[in-house]
Amino acid sequence: MLVDSHCHLDPAYLPAGPDDVLKRAKAAGVGTFVCIGVGRSLDAARAAVALAGARDDVFATVGVHPHDAAKTDEDGYGEIATLAQKPRVVAVGEIGLDYHYDHSPRDVQTQVFRRMIALARQLKKPIVIHTRSAPADTLAILEEEKAREVGGIIHCFSEDRDFAERALDLDFDLSFSGILTFKNAHAIRDAARFAPDDRILVETDSPFLAPVPLRGKTCEPAYIVHTARCLAELRGQTFETIVRQTTANVAKRLDLRLPPG
Ligand SMILES: [Zn+2]
Ligand SMILES: [Zn+2]
Repeated sequence: MLVDSHCHLDPAYLPAGPDDVLKRAKAAGVGTFVCIGVGRSLDAARAAVALAGARDDVFATVGVHPHDAAKTDEDGYGEIATLAQKPRVVAVGEIGLDYHYDHSPRDVQTQVFRRMIALARQLKKPIVIHTRSAPADTLAILEEEKAREVGGIIHCFSEDRDFAERALDLDFDLSFSGILTFKNAHAIRDAARFAPDDRILVETDSPFLAPVPLRGKTCEPAYIVHTARCLAELRGQTFETIVRQTTANVAKRLDLRLPPG
């Protein structure tokens, strides 16, 4: 069974709850979900933790997304730190820098990113990175803040092979989303071909970024199958190999206890 290493299942996106979406994913061969607890308010983090507590097949992360960096106050940080300690919270994230949208000022994004890395190191939990249009600063901060101590995942990998090499050196795995299936994603596809077998993951980032042939639809975890198939084709491996390898990789990276089989 596949693992969706990064999906958003909170009520902001699924007001009727995640049950139908998760049922369709199971039918498609997706057995486990890492639900990312970030959002405009702390409700997303609370919902992710609650869902992971209620279901064996869901794990959570919590953190402060760069989009929300300017909105989080000290009470918010306190609650994130408390939630991050829960046993089924497997990582701190997604955190990082987004210079494409710039929803928060860059200096605030930077401060929050550093603070979240410190939290992850304190809790000895891996980090899920969001980085967009900020490759040099992202790598510099990961280095300066000693993120290597805990390692983690570059989610929705959308950089090139050089960035991939540096991220791998910093002990970050590469997680590929539906963007991989876009024909013009040359640099990303190149990185996906080159990455070592034991450092590749797949994700949907649902409800965003539906893969080809479903591009433009509202993404959901079931669609990860198309991304995994694309990754197999690019690497000249079988779909079964990709399923087995990416599942083993994410389980190891996030210390997921998966059901046998
Ligand atoms: Zn992201
Ligand atoms: Zn995300």
